Amino acid sequence: MGEQMNSTSSETMTWVERSREHSVPEQPFKGQLFINGDWREASDGGRITRTSPAYRKVVSDFCKATVADTQDAISAARQAFDKGEWSQYSGAQRAAILNKIADLVMQNQQQFALQEVLESGKPISQAMDEIEWAVDLWRYAAVCARSLHGDSFNNLGSDMLAMVVREPIGVVSIITPWNFPFLILSQKLPFALAAGCTAVVKPSELTSGTSVMLAKILVEADVPAGVVNILVGEGHDVGALMTSHEDVDMVTFTGSSAVGKQLTAVAAQSLKKVSLELGGKNPQIIFPDCDWEAAVDAVVFGTFFNAGECCNSGSRILVHESIAADFQKAVAERAAKVPFGDPLCKETKVGAIVSDAHLNVIQTYLQVAVAEGAQISLGGCVVEHSGLYMQPTIVSNVTRDMQIAREEVFGPVLSVLTFSDLDEAVSIANDCFYGLSAGVWSANIDNCLKVARSVKAGTVWINGWMSGYPELPFGGYKQSGQGRELGRAALDEFTEQKTIQMHIGERTGWWLPKNA
Ligand code: NAD
Repeated sequence: MGEQMNSTSSETMTWVERSREHSVPEQPFKGQLFINGDWREASDGGRITRTSPAYRKVVSDFCKATVADTQDAISAARQAFDKGEWSQYSGAQRAAILNKIADLVMQNQQQFALQEVLESGKPISQAMDEIEWAVDLWRYAAVCARSLHGDSFNNLGSDMLAMVVREPIGVVSIITPWNFPFLILSQKLPFALAAGCTAVVKPSELTSGTSVMLAKILVEADVPAGVVNILVGEGHDVGALMTSHEDVDMVTFTGSSAVGKQLTAVAAQSLKKVSLELGGKNPQIIFPDCDWEAAVDAVVFGTFFNAGECCNSGSRILVHESIAADFQKAVAERAAKVPFGDPLCKETKVGAIVSDAHLNVIQTYLQVAVAEGAQISLGGCVVEHSGLYMQPTIVSNVTRDMQIAREEVFGPVLSVLTFSDLDEAVSIANDCFYGLSAGVWSANIDNCLKVARSVKAGTVWINGWMSGYPELPFGGYKQSGQGRELGRAALDEFTEQKTIQMHIGERTGWWLPKNA
């Protein structure tokens, strides 16, 4: 299969040529910890380096936070919050700063995108888009900052007027994964700031570059010291303290369901609020009357975008049995045309896999699938090259009980299942402990709506896949998460509600008689 596939990773350009073309700095990006408005070295001098999965070069060199550094960052965020400067800015003032940050990130789009390519292996064209989408989130959060409001109750009797005001929840720990580093940070931090919270941020140790780059922009945009603190570090110590510490009021986490569960158990010790965006095994249900070309293209996009390292990957399709063979053939033909390989090549649509360990996990899933009776009908191989590449892969003859039908592979791997009627399709779609997103393809709106209302998923796409808007809430059912990001919910998540009851006039409803 390998030779027939559309790899752009052939050695047409050397690393030196490619890096010159994109002005890749000769030295790795250097990052320090950002605590209380200052940059510092780690207290024990420790460092984390990142080797590009695409080019096998060290591309980042960060100070590695210790538990003591984490403690300092949390104290800084606590003091900044308790001082109240940021939370007492008007919505308009906070919005102006968020918009300034958006402008500055946009001015540095190329540099941000390049760092994400080098650290994650994603294609440059996609990374440029992601930075732009992220900027849009900062701008949307600015709008939210100005429109944050509570509620009033004028129907409680003539002697009572009540208000429900929204207040920032306090210090927020923000923990993010490696697959969309700056985009996911931007689903959280601007909204926490818009609400008036302060934050400690820990990006994935594999892709910390753009979170660290943001620190300079925060200073330029006049975010007061201590309001945002950024640590590069590992989960087991830095992330764990950010979750357990009594001075932290909320943890917002995006990552695997396994770590999400661990973290929730730790946070429960201090009963702090936890919001979780976790994994998915997202079904797309394909009916015979669908727009065939559109469905084929969207399935290929939904599976292989970001090398399938995507919580929203449409990684299992359920195809009506009457069209299954032809549909799968059409998907395979189109998937074989996906340009994969060198992420700095402008044509590339699928870049490198994030790490050796993760590539092994994907390969193990394929081995188990074959052992359980599935067939690899496209790709399946690791591409021999200087970086970590894998061919777009299709696994057929999959049944609902197989591991590959139920677990998140998080790689460029599509599982194909079949169904005979709508009820069976919904039953297979829901037979999974994830519930992040789902899709349905049909010209029959009744079928589409029936599926949309029956699947257990936080987002359902009808005749489309993976569109997203800042205005629309995003999050998961079941073990795909709790809470919602984006939309009005984005800001509400970072607030507490305070009920204020105002008695009007003389006391009524005396407990003891007035003159007792
Ligand atoms: P991960 O769970 O391994 O790590 C995520 C973050 O948690 C990292 O910053 C890591 O250092 C930190 N961490 C690890 N152990 C910790 C601990 N004990 N306490 C606190 N923090 C800890 O996830 P990953 O491999 O970086 O990302 C891939 C996963 O993320 C996939 O499962 C994917 O589905 C999920 N994801 C979900 C969404 C969504 O919006 N639902 C979006 C992107 C990724």
